[in-house]
Amino acid sequence: MSRVNTNLGGTSIRLRPGIAKPLPKALLSFDVEEFDLPGEYGQGNLPSEETQIDVGTRGLTAVLELLDRTGVRATFFTTAVFAAARPEMIRRIAESPLRHEVASHGWSHSSFEERDLLRSRVALQQITGKPVTGFRRARFGEFDRRALAAAGYRYDSSDNPIWLPGRYNNFKKPRTAYRLGDLGSEGVTILPVSASPLVRYPLFWLSFKHSPMALYRLASQWVLREDGYLNIFFHPWEFTSLKGFKIPFVVRRRAGEKMVARLEAYLLWLKERADFDTLADFAVRWENQQALSLFKKS
Ligand SMILES: [Zn+2]
Repeated sequence: MSRVNTNLGGTSIRLRPGIAKPLPKALLSFDVEEFDLPGEYGQGNLPSEETQIDVGTRGLTAVLELLDRTGVRATFFTTAVFAAARPEMIRRIAESPLRHEVASHGWSHSSFEERDLLRSRVALQQITGKPVTGFRRARFGEFDRRALAAAGYRYDSSDNPIWLPGRYNNFKKPRTAYRLGDLGSEGVTILPVSASPLVRYPLFWLSFKHSPMALYRLASQWVLREDGYLNIFFHPWEFTSLKGFKIPFVVRRRAGEKMVARLEAYLLWLKERADFDTLADFAVRWENQQALSLFKKS
């Protein structure tokens, strides 16, 4: 793979061998949150707040080490509750030489009201000292996305355009990046989580955990080729032991070290086929491309 210096923002871009075209982008994100999942399966199962934060912290430590080893850049959608409990970890993400992004996953993982949009963004900015421009709603719940721009967000990644039995049916939603409102400060760019063209084979964390790896890689390549980018996400708690919690087998399977090894092998494979980017940087690039194509048409 040749590395060529260009004048595009002073960064170098990798080119496919023999073809003068940049590699597609890989957008990897983690939803950093209190481990409240056992509560979904009966409120009596909800661990203490301290345990919820501890599980998230152990997983996040494993994830950051994995990204350091592989040299991969990522976006961390973080709840304000988790960030307030572990500000030093959120600063470590924001100050990483890999140039990770911190974005908002709302105030608390188990509730949502519209004012959480603004107050979580402000809380995260205070901790990191950097602008926070992205949002993902916990559990991909519906909300009025017209409120995003007013709360200072530039993009949203709260769509998983698949059918997930018992959760949501988003089969009719757009599969790739789109815009709500005009290009400019009044609108917001939506970056749905990736699913394959046609059948919408899912590529989010549960699919990564259970799919045969050859099939998951095939679907990833299909998306990279068709869309020019791949948007996938995980949770730090997947990367630590979940023994002792009453959660279904589909969530418990391949937890902890097995997931670390699985993701590490996949990221090394993906690194040869795509350039990792944050969702914030990708959103800006996508908006610029849209603006340029409008310009050409007029
Ligand atoms: Zn979440």
